[in-house]
Amino acid sequence: MKLTRGGFLKSMAGLTFAGLPWPTTGLLLSAQPVAGQPSRSIQIQDVEIYPYNVSMIEPFRVALSTITSAENVLVRLRTREGVVGWGEASPYSPVTGETQAVDLAVGKDLANFVRGRDPFTLSAIVSDMDGFTPSNTSIKAALEMAVWDICGKLAGQPVYKLLGAYRDSFETDITIGMGTPEEMAKKATKYVQDGFKTLKVKLGDGPEPDTQRMKAIREAIGYSIKVRTDANQGWTAAETVRALRMMEKYQMQICEQPVPYWDVEGLKFSRDNSPTPIMADESVHSPHDALAIVRENAVDCINIKLMKSGGLLRGVQIATVAASAGVTCMVGCMEETRLALTAGAHLVCSQKNIVYADLDGFLELSVDPVIGGMQMRDGIVTLPNTPGLGVDIDPAFLGKLHHI
Ligand SMILES: [Mg+2]
Repeated sequence: MKLTRGGFLKSMAGLTFAGLPWPTTGLLLSAQPVAGQPSRSIQIQDVEIYPYNVSMIEPFRVALSTITSAENVLVRLRTREGVVGWGEASPYSPVTGETQAVDLAVGKDLANFVRGRDPFTLSAIVSDMDGFTPSNTSIKAALEMAVWDICGKLAGQPVYKLLGAYRDSFETDITIGMGTPEEMAKKATKYVQDGFKTLKVKLGDGPEPDTQRMKAIREAIGYSIKVRTDANQGWTAAETVRALRMMEKYQMQICEQPVPYWDVEGLKFSRDNSPTPIMADESVHSPHDALAIVRENAVDCINIKLMKSGGLLRGVQIATVAASAGVTCMVGCMEETRLALTAGAHLVCSQKNIVYADLDGFLELSVDPVIGGMQMRDGIVTLPNTPGLGVDIDPAFLGKLHHI
């Protein structure tokens, strides 16, 4: 039987809408944005924001700065019914322009867009926070991941399943900060002995000294271990090409953000003329940045960080833009405890084209305040199968903090 277009639509209408309480005329789906008012009496009632500092086990040097402590912000949300959501901001001013003090001040304002809202209107909450401030992404990420935590707990599912689970475990690299070639080779040897199969090496001093670093590392660990590198904007485009050609024999998997964040043309020049694939980090904060960069065919991969994107929703959107252009992604981190890192791990598990992970930040911190959350063994990360993010904060740690 030949089905005409009209007949097809009629039959679909009969199949889809028969017996449903929707009007047969007018809009079937509301074009109005969700107002964010609580439905089914679910409502976020309390927003608590706590500053806290955790010292690094040793100073961590990258081309942008040397970091000695994580000065972070903890967020605890609670619904009227008592469901708790946790979030963490790890501001890093050279990248997002935020400090702990900034996040505390802006967090107080942003709390007004979270308090009183239905957590399942998360997209409207994120949109309202973006409308209040287009920047301040780390504190927005903290609030947003806490909302996801509540959504997962209410739905009885881990967050990565709400996002559309693709995998439930993955490999992370471990990062070697900048030092002398000997120091970095020693670290590389230790991390390989610890079971890691992929190392991320911080470079960015210049082609010659950086080549000496790579040489020392390869001589120490051989070639069975994958090595990726991150120059943190330390090279010009011309230096990138020279450096990566000099280092080609050291078989680097990918080179992250070799040129300044604003130099998309430089990223493209590097990609077109280097033997090593190129990844953007500081050049991409938002889905808009991702679109601009893939339009220029400037990179092979994008490093998504929740602290840059403003949370999981925007992170998924960046991954989607990238996937549409055949570009892969990594999820990276700032100086995060296992709280924000666990949220990052949920993102990794949710998207097929997130093929790399750099979620090692907690290993550099002197305190781990998280109970539950992501687990790591021999560089393999797994998530708990508990609803929400699957994290809790150690009551002894929380007891010493004061919220604003
Ligand atoms: Mg980076």
